[in-house]
Parts: sequence; structure tokens; C-alpha cells
Amino acid sequence: MEVQWLLACHGLVTLLVVISFLCGRWPIFQGTFIERIHYFLTFGAYDYFLRFVEAVFGPKCTNAVLSVEYFCCDRPNPILQIIYLAIISVTYYFIAKSSFMYIPGYYLSGIHRYTSFLAVAVGIMVFLLTSFSDPGTVKAESVSQYLSAYPYDNIIFTEKECSTCKIPKPARSKHCSICDRCVARFDHHCGWMNNCIGERNTRYFLAFLLWHFFLCLYGTVAIGLVLAGRLKELRIVYILTVYYGIENSPLSLAPHIVQWLLGAYNTQILLMVFLAIVALLLAGFFGYHAKLCLTNTTTNETFKWQEHINWQRKLYEEKASAEALRASISGMSSEVQPVSKWRAFFRRSPLEDVEVVKNNIYDKGFYHNFREVIFPFSTRRSFSPTKLKSG
Ligand SMILES: [Zn+2]
Ligand SMILES: [Zn+2]
Repeated sequence: MEVQWLLACHGLVTLLVVISFLCGRWPIFQGTFIERIHYFLTFGAYDYFLRFVEAVFGPKCTNAVLSVEYFCCDRPNPILQIIYLAIISVTYYFIAKSSFMYIPGYYLSGIHRYTSFLAVAVGIMVFLLTSFSDPGTVKAESVSQYLSAYPYDNIIFTEKECSTCKIPKPARSKHCSICDRCVARFDHHCGWMNNCIGERNTRYFLAFLLWHFFLCLYGTVAIGLVLAGRLKELRIVYILTVYYGIENSPLSLAPHIVQWLLGAYNTQILLMVFLAIVALLLAGFFGYHAKLCLTNTTTNETFKWQEHINWQRKLYEEKASAEALRASISGMSSEVQPVSKWRAFFRRSPLEDVEVVKNNIYDKGFYHNFREVIFPFSTRRSFSPTKLKSG
């Protein structure tokens, strides 16, 4: 009984930490302990750690920690690339070591020994392609083409010059401070790829997510079929029903089969759970990016739109309060009925009623948006770099 309580507590704490970390900044959690946990996880914990290092080891050690942080987070570095390669090769090694001896099996033919290797190799190739491809660097010689390919919408993008590169900043581009370059149709800087995701490699990035989702799904299903094959070959159901006298129904057999699997094939079960979780995460991430591509928005632009919408709401708020002030001066407020505390609590904030229209001029319908990702402007024949015109 105690173990069950411990497990339940562990599950609740994990859930709380995950929710706080991912959703802690949502408006509904404002001022709650969830927001405080989020602050602690994302900022406070590191701050306490730095203060602890300073107090115990002195300022020299703090500077060392800060320079490690600078190298890991603010400079291009291959740490996450190495971790990706380690994860995929170690996982494949464990799958091969634990499951290849049962292939060919009852449900899987021998060809899966080779197709699995091929699938992993293609995955690594897509990873290398995304990592080492040009994301669409804006240079002095190509900036005029980019400027005409990406017009300013004068909402979230206005005419500007990059203060570092000293060239005009085309709409939808951003200067990546880690790579120190301007990137066209900038999406985000990907630490795993050690590269920016921009105009020219968003297609490879999407292919990477989709391929790795299918890779994890393939692994999960294949290991599942290996275990199902073992169940059949070893005649486990027959043994359980005839020798142990267990009723031949899925409901009464299931716990015994699960127990047998966990005892005899725990490595394979662990691998299956790991691959299934990664597949789910990849599916969510791919879905999010596919939606962005089909609406012709970038991750960078979602932040810009959010800023724009907040600004519009603030404008509305100021206008509303000015109007209220004017009304109270003219004596109209004396006729307003007092609102009870409870009514005021449940009443929607007037700001929620403000409809801010997101007018994305780059959204040209699913087909054209998709085409723009697969065949970026800078790869088309009409986009031939010429010398930058003066002025
Ligand atoms: Zn720049
Ligand atoms: Zn970058």
C-alpha cells in the first residue's frame, strides 16, 4: 500500500513540475504557486546556484560558470549535435543487441535488420543536411533580392537596417546573435542542429521531424511485433491456460502476459516506452511547425504578433480609461449601479473583448505557403543575386 502512495505522490509531483515548466506563464496561473514554480525552474534555480557558487567558491568560480554558460548557450557549439548522435546510435545499438536475435520472427521478416539500419542512416543524413545547410544568410550581394521577395507589411515588419551587418533588414529576417548573421524568413536558432532554421532549410527541418517521428513509430511497432512473435513462438497463452489453469480471455490473461514480458524482456519494454514518448513529442512538434508553415508564419513571427496584439490591447485599455474619466467628469458615473464583489470577480475583463485582427499578408493559402517552404524564393530562377545598388 505504501509503495502505491509513494508512486502516486511521485506522479503528482512530476505532473506539477511539467505543467509549471510548460504552462507556468499562462494568464490563468498568474500569481499562483504554479507561476512561482515556473520562475524557480526557469530562472530562480540557476540564480541560487550562481549565488551558492559565489558564496562558497568565490567570484572566480562564478565567472567560470558564466563563461561555460556563454559557450553553451550564446555561442555556436556542437554539444547538442553530439548528444543527438549519441542518443540515436546508442538506442539503435540497444535495439540491435536486444531484438535482432529474434528477427526473422513470427511476425517480422529478416529484411527489417536492413531497413531499420537504412531508416536510421537516412535520419542521420537529414540531420546533417539541416545542420550544415545554409539557412538563407542575407548578404550584401543578395539583400536586394530578399528585399523584393519579402515586402514589409508595416505591422510587425518595417524598413530597418541591421545594426551589426550594416545592411537593410528584409521583412521576416532576423539577426541571429549566436551565429552572428542575418537570416531570411528566420524561424529560430536550433541548438540541436547548431544552425539557424530559416528560409532555405525549414523544409529539411520539417523532414527531420517527420522522419524521426516515423522512425520512433517504426521502432515501437517493430519491437512490439518481436515481443508478440515471442509470445506466439513460446506458446505462452497455451502454457498459461493449460498448465496454470488461467481462463482463456484477454482480460484474465493480460496481467500474466504483462508480468511475463516485464520479467523476460524488460530492455525491449523500456525501449518501446522511450520510443513511444519521443514519437509523441515529435508528432506534437511537427504538427506545430506544419501548422506554422501552412499559415506562412514563423516561430519568430508568433512572438512578434503576440507583442503587437498586447500593444493593441494596451492602446484600447488607455482609450477606455480616458473615456471613463471623461464620463465621470461629466457626472454620468453617479448613475452607474454599484457592482457586487462576486459579480466583478466573474465578469470578463473588458480587454478579452478586444478583437485584434491578425492580418498576415504573407499567408497566400495552403498550396502557395507549402510551395514557398519546399521551393524557397532564393532557390528560384527569378532570384539571381546582383551587385547591391548604391542608396
Ligand atoms: Zn545582421
Ligand atoms: Zn543561429
